[in-house]
Amino acid sequence: MENSKNDILSLTLPEVEEIVLDLGEPRFRAKQIYGWINKGMWGSEMKNVPALLQKKLEDVCEFRMPTIKRKLVSHLDGTIKYLFELIDGEYIESVFMRYEHGNTLCISSQVGCRMGCKFCASTLLGRVRDLLPSEMLGQIIAAQKDTGERISNVVMMGIGEPLDNYDNTIKFLRLVSDENGLNIGLRHISVSTCGLVDKIERLWDEGLPITLSISLHAYDNEVRSGIMPVNNKYPIEGLLKACDTYFKKTGRRVSYEYTLIAGKNDTQEGAVQLAGILKKYIHGPCHVNLIPLNEVKETRLETSKNVNAFKNKLVSLGINATVRRRLGSDINASCGQLRRQEKKDD
Ligand code: SAH
Repeated sequence: MENSKNDILSLTLPEVEEIVLDLGEPRFRAKQIYGWINKGMWGSEMKNVPALLQKKLEDVCEFRMPTIKRKLVSHLDGTIKYLFELIDGEYIESVFMRYEHGNTLCISSQVGCRMGCKFCASTLLGRVRDLLPSEMLGQIIAAQKDTGERISNVVMMGIGEPLDNYDNTIKFLRLVSDENGLNIGLRHISVSTCGLVDKIERLWDEGLPITLSISLHAYDNEVRSGIMPVNNKYPIEGLLKACDTYFKKTGRRVSYEYTLIAGKNDTQEGAVQLAGILKKYIHGPCHVNLIPLNEVKETRLETSKNVNAFKNKLVSLGINATVRRRLGSDINASCGQLRRQEKKDD
């Protein structure tokens, strides 16, 4: 009965202890096992775990570590893009980036996405399924194992909408920051959302000091609904009010992503309006991250030539704004594109 097995990498140390005790083994074995699985080792790789226990564990648990299907390394900046294969043959992507403040991994939260943003490659084929906490954690473990380097920062900006997979995302955040596990501080983790307001309202009570990042991409409802269907359900004013409350409740600053698309959202007047709504609704710190559109052939949308002018206008109006540096531009590092290519090639 494969499906009734415990997904061991989705468990906390006390939960693993329970399994170990159920198997009639001493409690200290759990900590050893927990150390191994967080290094991506399982079965006979768990050297100080007796062979009989390795076997018993394999009978009651499954190890859902993603495996590397393809790996692209940028010659420009060392960025690595991974195409991972999951236990059921589905594919997801992660991107490993080197920054001065440490290595960052951009991870996926779902296989595909159902949010339907018009400019995004990940949503073109819809959502297949949610990722389990183990499969989110497994991307980090696999990348650390492959590079031999520690990952100190995580951004949930890969394939999928993390807040559309709420419970698994929350469990992942608790596991990844556990000192017995990967021990990555929550202050070093960004959760990016297209703006599911009901979930943002739940998130502020979770006591997780992550950075919330909002994919705003527009300065009014007409423009936003035109490129992001989610805006029909959660219009921009309510979203910004929720962000303001999020800061009041958590003390954590919210950041705003703004992808510039030619002829859609990139005018000087647009920058003025954006500054206006941010000043109106956001009372805490506010930072806008401007992203030049990564062109996806099927969408026919084009990158804007006004990125710097847009930024300068925002800054002149007192809004803190920067243009995101593009890493891995020679390996098509933006998410969603490799998975689709692989599916076509299959
Ligand atoms: N679903 C989440 C996280 C995944 S997308 C979210 O919407 O935030 C991560 C970021 O990449 C988002 O800001 C998203 O809007 C942006 N993005 C998606 N496709 C893009 C593209 N083709 N070019 C530039 N940014 C893109």
